[in-house]
Amino acid sequence: MIYADNAATSRLKTKALEAMLPFFGDGFGNPSSLHSVGQRANAALFAAREKAAKCLGAAPNEIYFTSGGSEADNQAILTGAKIGGRKGKKHIISTAFEHHAVLHTLDRMKKDGFEITLLPVGEKGLVTPEQVAEAIRPDTALVTVMFANNEIGTVQPIGEIAAVCREKGVLFHTDAVQAVGHIKVDVASLGVDMLSLSAHKFGGPTGTGILFARKGIKPEILIEGGAQERGRRAGTENLAAIVGMAAALEESCAKIEENAVKVSAMRNRLIEGLGEIPHGILNGDRERRLPGNVNFCFEGIEGESLLLLLDDEGICASSGSACTSGSLDPSHVLLAIGRPHEIAHGSLRLTINEDNTPEQMEKIIASTKKVVERLRAMSPVWRDLVSGKKEFVIK
Ligand SMILES: *Cc1c(COP(=O)(O)O)cnc(C)c1O
Repeated sequence: MIYADNAATSRLKTKALEAMLPFFGDGFGNPSSLHSVGQRANAALFAAREKAAKCLGAAPNEIYFTSGGSEADNQAILTGAKIGGRKGKKHIISTAFEHHAVLHTLDRMKKDGFEITLLPVGEKGLVTPEQVAEAIRPDTALVTVMFANNEIGTVQPIGEIAAVCREKGVLFHTDAVQAVGHIKVDVASLGVDMLSLSAHKFGGPTGTGILFARKGIKPEILIEGGAQERGRRAGTENLAAIVGMAAALEESCAKIEENAVKVSAMRNRLIEGLGEIPHGILNGDRERRLPGNVNFCFEGIEGESLLLLLDDEGICASSGSACTSGSLDPSHVLLAIGRPHEIAHGSLRLTINEDNTPEQMEKIIASTKKVVERLRAMSPVWRDLVSGKKEFVIK
């Protein structure tokens, strides 16, 4: 089996698993308990926080453990809205191709009286600092721009956007779920105010993540209860998962450059090989993209059928985000970069990591070529395109 859907979720790293196992045995314990079992748990929690902070260039007390990327995104946006709202600022800037954890939270803010500006991302899937600067108004409470897109893998100039926001005195949050563990992310040198990450996207366990909030920013409470996470996020800590996340983060960060070189070479081969398929197009900028992301549209085919046939070939891929697959709406990301509906339906996302091999890339290329050809041979739309009855959108 070839797994090429790491943007959906990734295999737990061995080091993360090994770090977690003791906490399912004798290492159990509630970090808030005063006895020795609890205190050992508390020490492990402390160590995990320090480790995670170090990897991100943050201070330990700027790290808030959450249940994952979605919760961290929700909390960050509510925090920005609340802080701004207290000063009468009711405007939030984001982009058209954010993850639904951001977009749906923004919908909610809209109902609460906030005005939302979604910046266009152009055909390349990139936002510029100038666009952000132009959109900022005196009543802007928050700017939230994703670090790397989960479907097309484009990487935004986050440091420059953060600088624009800082200069204008506006809070800045980035959903860095797809970036952390894959490209260098250092909150101090980037100058971001808040950042979200999720463990299962870089070889940690599912159901845990981090909200980074710069010193001086008090995250809005989503879950009321005990005093965990310095009173900002109640609930007994998911200690095993938190320890696993810290181990996965540490390993990913230590090997970040080495892995990026290896993975981007495989990505480049995929782009080259799949680029030979006629009437196909790469989605997202060719250069400014994650080391492991490849996303193509092929005209005259249906993405879902392509996925099922690739699965028969032993290849796990995706047509876009796991959240939209299963629905008939085409991906909002592909629509945002200007792909027409009928083209957006024929998309293929391959997201690889350091566990993949160059041999697997050759198999993916050969199988995709074969499957696309087979689907086109059966497609009435393709027949119309070839006969000239309809015009090709992708030349
Ligand atoms: C996966 C993902 C999320 C959600 O993270 P969960 O931990 O699954 O809640 C948010 N943003 C982006 C960009 C993602 O890829």
